[in-house]
Amino acid sequence: MKIICIGRNYAKHIEELSNQKPDSPVVFMKPDSAIVLKNNPFIIPHFSDEIHYETEVLVKINKVGKNISPEFSHKYYDEIGLGIDFTARDVQEQCKTKGLPWEKAKAFDGSAFVSVFQPKQNFEDINNINFSLNINKNTVQKGNTKDMLWNIDELISYVSKYFTLKKGDIIFTGTPAGVGKVNTGDILEGHIEGDKIFELKVR
Ligand code: ZN
Repeated sequence: MKIICIGRNYAKHIEELSNQKPDSPVVFMKPDSAIVLKNNPFIIPHFSDEIHYETEVLVKINKVGKNISPEFSHKYYDEIGLGIDFTARDVQEQCKTKGLPWEKAKAFDGSAFVSVFQPKQNFEDINNINFSLNINKNTVQKGNTKDMLWNIDELISYVSKYFTLKKGDIIFTGTPAGVGKVNTGDILEGHIEGDKIFELKVR
């Protein structure tokens, strides 16, 4: 399986990192080795002093698709989850300055935390899902999928022009504003529509 991530999909997050608003979705990937293994903590890697959390709604692809039209995108996923796109912000800044690819900052071991998935039928409207992240019981990030620049169906259509989607692939749909640093000992708690969907320790 592969993990396809969308960058700069919420206007307020683009502002907080002083990035340019893109004309088309920013896309990057993580390998399957990036996934935090079940019941394991997130371990801060030695090569970064600034690991950021980015809380993102996840979509799990349910069948093979290529060049999917937005009106058919809904047939390609049944499940929604919540994840963290862990980012070595200091490494990413170096990559950006030099115009280099982001993989060392975004695709390292443990950089993709994936929650359990829920059937999409649990949600009245895929384009109006509230989600949030608490760190040590304080809410640090809050988002709603209605604020995406490109919604889930548009993203599936867009990425499928470049990459054949396969069953089990996961799309990270971008983070809202409020990203910040994680520290050893933090306990991260993800919520969708007020329900706790994961808890993750940082070590
Ligand atoms: Zn992200």
